[in-house]
Amino acid sequence: MAHLTILGSAYAVPNPDQENTHLALVLKQSAVLIDCSGTPLVRLEKAGIPLDWIDDIILTHFHPDHASGLPTLLMGMWLKGRKKPLTVHGLEITVAKASAMMDLFDWHQWPGFFDVRFHGVPEIPLQTILRTPEVSIVSSPVRHLIPTIGLRIQLEEDGAAAAYSCDTEPCQAVVDLAAGADLLIHEAAGEGKGHSSPYQAGEIARQAEVGKLVMIHYGPGQPAEALIHQAKTAFQGQVDVARDWMVLPLDGFTSPK
Ligand SMILES: [Zn+2]
Repeated sequence: MAHLTILGSAYAVPNPDQENTHLALVLKQSAVLIDCSGTPLVRLEKAGIPLDWIDDIILTHFHPDHASGLPTLLMGMWLKGRKKPLTVHGLEITVAKASAMMDLFDWHQWPGFFDVRFHGVPEIPLQTILRTPEVSIVSSPVRHLIPTIGLRIQLEEDGAAAAYSCDTEPCQAVVDLAAGADLLIHEAAGEGKGHSSPYQAGEIARQAEVGKLVMIHYGPGQPAEALIHQAKTAFQGQVDVARDWMVLPLDGFTSPK
């Protein structure tokens, strides 16, 4: 069953129970890694996601807590014998920085290194990043401290949809990405420049008329019940808080409409 696995749920500072926010979209025989922080090799292995299922990585923006795991992931894939190509998707500026980061490691001199392609996505709303017979993924710029994209993931088979806000202030782009989706994963780092509070995440969920809100990238020291309570003052649907290793099914949802 298609699902999203939460590989990390922390805000910018991880802790022993929560790695930095990143997730995997797991399909029938493939997976898409959404952001790449911490120790992705270890997280993917622990989640039971085969490394060779991953042919696509989406970097939502180039902050260290979202992109710094790329060098160790690519090196690990290479050392484990990967031969087939892999594509890194993101805004032009994001993939340019990712490529420059790899250059610092002289990766072109790694013997027999597999082909890594960079797919620069235009910084305009509702761009198709990836389309396969199984899934389509579109991105829109959201409102963070640096150029950042949010995502909508839609299964071709049954139309089940999930959206991911990434790091952002409340914005119309996320409402549009999440419109009518079964699931919205929204950050809740706290109200302020480039981020959102649980209440604001609930507001976006209400406006987008999603079935379920799951908050992620939230700060420490706040009990889940308090976060959920705040979001529920704005949104009447299901509300939960992401935790590391949580599995969120994509198909099998009944649409709220
Ligand atoms: Zn960020």
